[in-house]
Order: sequence, then structure tokens, then C-alpha cells
Amino acid sequence: MLRPRLPSPVQEVEDETFARHGVRLLLKRDDLIHPDLPGNKWRKLAPNLRAAAAAGERALLTFGGAYSNHLRATAAAGRLLGFATIGVVRGDELAGAPLNPSLARCAADGMRLHFVDRGTYRRKTEPDVLAALHDRFGSFAVIPEGGSNSLAAQGCAELGRELRGVADTAAVACGTGGTLAGLAAGLGPGQRAIGVAVLKGGSPHFLRGTVEDLQRAAFGAPCGHWRLEDRFHCGGYARRTPELDAFADAFEARHGLPLERVYVAKLLLGLTALAEEGTFAPGSTVAAVITGMP
Ligand SMILES: *Cc1c(COP(=O)(O)O)cnc(C)c1O
Repeated sequence: MLRPRLPSPVQEVEDETFARHGVRLLLKRDDLIHPDLPGNKWRKLAPNLRAAAAAGERALLTFGGAYSNHLRATAAAGRLLGFATIGVVRGDELAGAPLNPSLARCAADGMRLHFVDRGTYRRKTEPDVLAALHDRFGSFAVIPEGGSNSLAAQGCAELGRELRGVADTAAVACGTGGTLAGLAAGLGPGQRAIGVAVLKGGSPHFLRGTVEDLQRAAFGAPCGHWRLEDRFHCGGYARRTPELDAFADAFEARHGLPLERVYVAKLLLGLTALAEEGTFAPGSTVAAVITGMP
């Protein structure tokens, strides 16, 4: 059974750069919500699983790359809550090859893995592709890639509500932007959210549009005070630079907290640079959402 730790704990850290600018840094420990379903993945999946159960669905189908945290979280949720799970994985060259550790975890949690070529993967939400999946796997509820839909954004609004009165700025790393969409909607009137993009966007406006669309679908209109930072992706998704590694190693050594490197390290690198630039007013408080653990 799921016994999520909610609200997730908030922890203050003494960090030299922030202190020098008179700014308090808090860590919102969403990584501690559940050992198998960390962080924002729990907040995004929980309402989708509730809706699937209410609709009488017994299987979940979703999509991801070979290292997708979302696939792993969906597989774990299926095991814990008694759903069959099907993972449609990008890359038919992976079929038959030994599974990487991430996909091996999915399989160990009972997820059926279905590898498709990149062309099919791109067209995964088109009716003919979904029809072929239904022919093969029967009835299932579809959860989108990255888990971001309107229910997911509504689930993440609770993250914002938990941070009301706690910080002036709340910041989160953005992949699909679903977590930011909900976080910003749940914050109080005087608070603002910053999303640090970890993907190198084709267009800087693309992610902004996605977040606005999700807010429209989930809450009726774009809402909350939020903005995106796209200077800290370090070359793109799962890319790293010597600067990022040096920053993350030093942060870990200072605070004894291992950093997830795809999202969380880039968030903290970005916030540290923003503090250095004087973005945060002296006397203000910044909450960094720790969405996952390594
Ligand atoms: C998936 C994930 C994110 C990104 O969430 P989005 O809602 O897709 O923006 C951030 N951090 C971690 C650790 C994740 O696994």
C-alpha cells in the first residue's frame, strides 16, 4: 500500500552564496514522499491512478525513454496499487538486448515493456498507433509521456499549497513543465515560482506554451506568478558539464545530501547563480523543490 509522507518535509540549509546575499534557502523534500515513488512523480500519478480506478481500468499504459523516471514511477505505482502496467519504450533497437538498470526495475515491478521505433514513438498519441496498442494489450488507461496532464498539474498544486507562507520564491526543475504548472497554481498571491529547464528547448517559448496549456486544461486559465530559466540545462537533457559536476560534488560535500544530477543539480546550480546575480531580495526566502534522489 501507499503511505505517502505528506506534506513533505521542509529543511533549511546554510549555504554560503545565499547567506552572503541575505537569502534563506529551504529544501522542500519531495524526494521523501515515498521510497519507490519519489517526488513529483507521486504527486502527478496519484490523481491519475484514482481516476483510472474510478473508471474501472485495471491497466495503465504510458511512454518513456530507456532511462525514464516516469516509467519507473508508473511501474512502482502499478505494483503498489494492483494495476497492470505497460511501458512503451522509445527505441526498437533495445528489444532483445539486456535491460539497463532502470528498465530492469520496471520489469521487476511487473511492467510489460514494449519497444517501438522512433517514428512510431513520435506518433504515439495518434489514433492508429493507440488502436494497435489496444489490439495488443486490451483495455488500459493512457498516462502521457512524463505523466503531465491536467490531473497531474492538479496533483502538483498541492505542492504549491504546502509552500504557502513558507517562502517568497519556490523553484523546481522542469522537464515537461507539469510540476511547475501545478506548483505555480497552488502558491499564495504574493509568492512566485521559477522553473529551471533541464532540456535544451528548440524554442524558448515552447515550454512556456506547454505550461500555459496545462494550466488552461487543469485550472481554466494560466495562473500564478511564474517564469522559466533556460540558462542552466548544461547542454540538454541528461547532459552534464564539468561546472555542473563540480558544483554538485561541492554541494553534496557541504550538505551531506546526494544530488540527483539530471534535474535537481541543475535546479540548485541555477538558483545559486541567480542568488549570485542578486535576483532574490535580501531578507527573502527561496524554497528549492527536491523532486528526486539519485
Ligand atoms: C520527472 C522529474 C522532473 C520534471 O518534472 P516535469 O513535471 O516533467 O517538469 C523533475 N525532477 C525529477 C527528479 C524528475 O524525475
